[in-house]
Amino acid sequence: MYLLADIFVRFQRMAGHRAHYITGADEHGTYTLVKARKLGQPVSEVAQKHIDEILQCLRSVHITPDVFVRTSSEVHKDNALAIFRELQEAGYVQIHEGVQLYCEHCDEFVADSLAAGNCPACNSATDSNLCENCGLAIRHDTLCNARHTTCGHNLVLRRIEQAVFDTPRLARALDTAIGQSAWPEPIRDKARAWLAGDAHGLPMSRHFSHGVELLHPDDLFGQTLLTWFEGLWCFETGIREQCANDFLSAKSTMHDPSTRLVFFMGQDNRFYYTIGVSGALLARGYPIPTNHSIQDFYKIEGEKFSTSRDHALWADEVAREVDSNVLRYALARIARPFGRGENEFDVDGLVTAASHLRIWEDALRQYANNAKTLDTRRLRSRLRILAQRYADAIEELRFWDALDIVDRYFELADFARDDSGLWNAMEISLFLSLLYPVVPELSIRYGRHFFGAAWQPSFNKLAAKAGLPPRIDFPCLSAAVPTHFIASYNERFRKRQAEQYQ
Ligand SMILES: [Zn+2]
Ligand SMILES: [Zn+2]
Repeated sequence: MYLLADIFVRFQRMAGHRAHYITGADEHGTYTLVKARKLGQPVSEVAQKHIDEILQCLRSVHITPDVFVRTSSEVHKDNALAIFRELQEAGYVQIHEGVQLYCEHCDEFVADSLAAGNCPACNSATDSNLCENCGLAIRHDTLCNARHTTCGHNLVLRRIEQAVFDTPRLARALDTAIGQSAWPEPIRDKARAWLAGDAHGLPMSRHFSHGVELLHPDDLFGQTLLTWFEGLWCFETGIREQCANDFLSAKSTMHDPSTRLVFFMGQDNRFYYTIGVSGALLARGYPIPTNHSIQDFYKIEGEKFSTSRDHALWADEVAREVDSNVLRYALARIARPFGRGENEFDVDGLVTAASHLRIWEDALRQYANNAKTLDTRRLRSRLRILAQRYADAIEELRFWDALDIVDRYFELADFARDDSGLWNAMEISLFLSLLYPVVPELSIRYGRHFFGAAWQPSFNKLAAKAGLPPRIDFPCLSAAVPTHFIASYNERFRKRQAEQYQ
């Protein structure tokens, strides 16, 4: 998700738009809390460690968000409370009598992943928030076989007063807005189907010691906001910060019809982004998000990533051995349309990516080193059309199509086969521009070498002088995947699997 967002932002900037990449860390999830208890360390320390790891991973593949929001920051807490207040004032927060799971053995209310059981819809193992398998938001009174994950005892239900997001009241307007949106069809369908069957609204607060605490009204005093609302609102905290840096009003920017809000996420976040986040925008008079890029869980060797089973690879771990261009290209290639479960990572994908990039580099080098005369013909219209189709694909978040179009461009362009000694600068500049969002380092390196330091990736113009290129005097960037890396990967992921199936 991080990479797709980076590709999208780079593409938008290349197209001349002002684009900002905002992300953050949800520090109020129970994951951090449980881990901190286990390690006997303060929650803030564990959270900081995770954030450092995430940023290190992102840097290793040249992803640099403009704003990184920490949900434990005072500014975010204030912002979350302000959004909640605005929803109250707009009449979309009801105080209802509800129920919350309670552990009589530990004498405490339980929430999020501290309660586990089975999904009432698909029977998969799930926590008390959201079923990762089918995407259902789970109400505490419907969770089957509810247990306290810390002590293992069965849980009971206790009556509480809680804030509920009045989605039934919003349903018609939200359904209309989603119907008119550009969201991919399966995502629209799921959201609208849920709205049609919703009679209860979504709980927004509960008794829990960890998170953004409500002070008003009295019935809710001391409860905290559900992280699925408050944590996701970090995008809005980020918008405020970015707008403040640019001396803009965040409110009018978010209302501006030319502003587009695009979310990138894994499938487990789909429900609350499409219903909770979109609903909370619409209820306050803002447009709903322009689009969502939702990715199924990535798998290694056919199995979901899992850090607890050591069935996971970190980007920075791979980037120490594998060139970051290769890694970015391989990871971008894994992204598939939502709902197909096709996001497969394996070492073969890395090897293929490395040889793919190498073919491009070899062709560029050979063409440049052969060049004797300038080819002054205009860019062929077939290539122009491909560039337009590429732009459409990225706008519509079809990254897989955009990458296929790059391959098509390479097949159709002259430079891959031409040995006439001609040099068509426009054809090369456009090819490097198509590569730029996915493999920026490679694109910029060749672009500036061929066309001078002023070269910028662009679809419309060659932003530098077109003369004959200098001979290439630097090594290929896309080095092959080291054999010791492949061997240790196989040892770690494939051998163990083979043993399991024997
Ligand atoms: Zn307990
Ligand atoms: Zn389920």
